Amino acid sequence: MTVAEVDLSILVSNLASIRRRVGGRKVMAAVKADAYGHGLEAVGRRLEKAGVDYLAVAFVEEGVRLRRAGVKIPVLVLTALEDEGEAVRQGLTVTVYSERVVPRLERAASGLRRKVRVHLDVDTGMGRIGVPPDQALAVAKRILASDHLVLEGVYTHFSASDDPKDPYTARQLRVFREVLESWRREGLPRPLVHAANSGAVMHVPESWFDMVRPGIALYGYGPGQDPFPGVRPVLSWRTEVFHLKTVTRRTGIGYGHTYTAAPGRMIATLPVGYADGYNRLLSNRGTVLVKGRPVPVVGRVSMDQITVDVTGIGGVEVGTEVTLIGGRGEARVTAADLARLCGTIPYEVLCGIGRRVRRVYVG
Ligand SMILES: *Cc1c(COP(=O)(O)O)cnc(C)c1O
Repeated sequence: MTVAEVDLSILVSNLASIRRRVGGRKVMAAVKADAYGHGLEAVGRRLEKAGVDYLAVAFVEEGVRLRRAGVKIPVLVLTALEDEGEAVRQGLTVTVYSERVVPRLERAASGLRRKVRVHLDVDTGMGRIGVPPDQALAVAKRILASDHLVLEGVYTHFSASDDPKDPYTARQLRVFREVLESWRREGLPRPLVHAANSGAVMHVPESWFDMVRPGIALYGYGPGQDPFPGVRPVLSWRTEVFHLKTVTRRTGIGYGHTYTAAPGRMIATLPVGYADGYNRLLSNRGTVLVKGRPVPVVGRVSMDQITVDVTGIGGVEVGTEVTLIGGRGEARVTAADLARLCGTIPYEVLCGIGRRVRRVYVG
């Protein structure tokens, strides 16, 4: 059986650590994509209990799931507004990422005789979504003139804040400040201002404003090459040996026989594969922990199984626990290690842990 164990007490301690770092500013926790694979409802509920100020999801549907799970605190929808009626009904806060969102929301909110809180996203250089800086003031005025929209916040998103040496973040920040300054000059009420993702929480104190918006740091990882100070990984991923053999002659292992076990090698088969998010690029490259010792993945990762060489590890039998992500000290495998081997980032490794893998909550 394969499980992803999510230690919610570590999540809470990471939140506290981030809060201390930003001097008690408000925290909006990014819980999109099933809380980076950790489980949306459980993570959202625990963060609410721990006093987080805001949650951020990508889609309305994720916000609805949080409401159904009993989460009462504000939830900001960051991305495409796929169902504005549902957003209004569930009391979600909506991102105005384009002027076009305004009339859609107005129609939905007036039809339901409700008000809807919005945050205006200014595209200071990420280049995906958001209102261009030179239109931000006009869109803000349009929102302020509406009877049904409440302009609660304004934000931007950094494209390179994970790299402290990249000067682009300072440029984006300058553009954002100019927008805020133009609002002030025009006498617009100052809404909640936020910009900092984990990278900016780590490297750019000038970007912290009223609230920060970390995701990956809450789950215990840094956004770039360096670990985020003061946080620990929340998730560990474990499975167990379900088949074991000592080969008696040269034996090809797995699809394509990309590995041949010499006589006497002990090969353990584990019930996890790329369908569970154990990336196929880890074929003949990954390391897992057995009895606290690192052992290599041998042969190809297949959809539902991987094979590891446990020769020389005493006491391995069917049912022996194997750690895919977790452990401590020297004998530790992190999502960042697996990401490096796959040429990706820990975000993708965590989000990629499949639905077949049961989430178990402790702490
Ligand atoms: C995902 C996301 C975040 C969090 O980013 P991390 O790098 O995980 O800290 C913050 N803001 C927006 C708009 C996002 O989409």
